[in-house]
Amino acid sequence: MDWPENKDFAFTIFDDTDNATLENVKPVYDLIDDLGFRTTKSVWPSRGNDKPIFGGDTCEDPEYAGWLLELRDKGFEIAYHMNTYHSSTREEIIEGLQRFNEIFGHNPDSMSNHTGCADDIYWGPSRLSGLNKFVYNFLTGFRNSASFFGHVEGSKYFWGDVCRQFIKYCRNFVFRDINTLKQCPFMPYYDPEREYVNNWFASSDGAHLGEFNFLLKEENQDRLEAEGGCCIVYTHLSCGFHEDGRLDSEFVTLMERLSKKNGWYVPVNRLLDYLMEKNGAHKLSKSERLKLERRWLADKVRNARLGKRKNK
Ligand SMILES: [Zn+2]
Repeated sequence: MDWPENKDFAFTIFDDTDNATLENVKPVYDLIDDLGFRTTKSVWPSRGNDKPIFGGDTCEDPEYAGWLLELRDKGFEIAYHMNTYHSSTREEIIEGLQRFNEIFGHNPDSMSNHTGCADDIYWGPSRLSGLNKFVYNFLTGFRNSASFFGHVEGSKYFWGDVCRQFIKYCRNFVFRDINTLKQCPFMPYYDPEREYVNNWFASSDGAHLGEFNFLLKEENQDRLEAEGGCCIVYTHLSCGFHEDGRLDSEFVTLMERLSKKNGWYVPVNRLLDYLMEKNGAHKLSKSERLKLERRWLADKVRNARLGKRKNK
């Protein structure tokens, strides 16, 4: 892949807003900003009115919204993480997207589903097809088998048509490989079996501080650079990166090291726009879909085992 501006590779972050407050994420963004990275911060446009699984600040908190605008003005992308931290109906979703547009002056380009929201789109087993769907249901004890309705016409949580109208990129599969493009070389891609999402993208798993630092360890950074690859880390910057008034020192060291390399550090939407321009709008074939799903399931199974070993 030829990267713009003679860069050797590309790196960015999609930050899931779970648990994020101005207090716990601003110091993390101050560092990211100082080091010259431009990344993607997801938000909840609306304050919830029910108990969250994971809560956090929303765009209805004026101080937080003011800070988000500062980030936007510096060139960070503000993205969508569903309407709020619990399920929302179609009407609430439309109202939330209007609020997003009023605050930021545009619709969100990219999004990710939030855990446990009934309005999640093509989530749970609906991420998968055929036998892969059965394997997923079996592995998860069928507990997600009828929970997500964002793409289900007639449901009060249906907003697929709105998603297609407003949102360009939706995150799906996440892999434990720093080179996201190696795992999903044709992203962003359109899946004809999931017509309400314009384009999907994959990510590299840096869910929390430990996983993030492991993903960005020195040898992985060097490999990303050598492969001329592209990394979109999916993470939660509220989870451990800044605690007890200070940033995690390993995180700081790794990010400083990465910032000194000749990488292209732009937000997720800009990176995907570029890949789209280079690769064209890729239409996922049946065999590509099955392979991608199988690789994701295998990655999940393998790492669940690895995770257990690491905890011992
Ligand atoms: Zn979330």
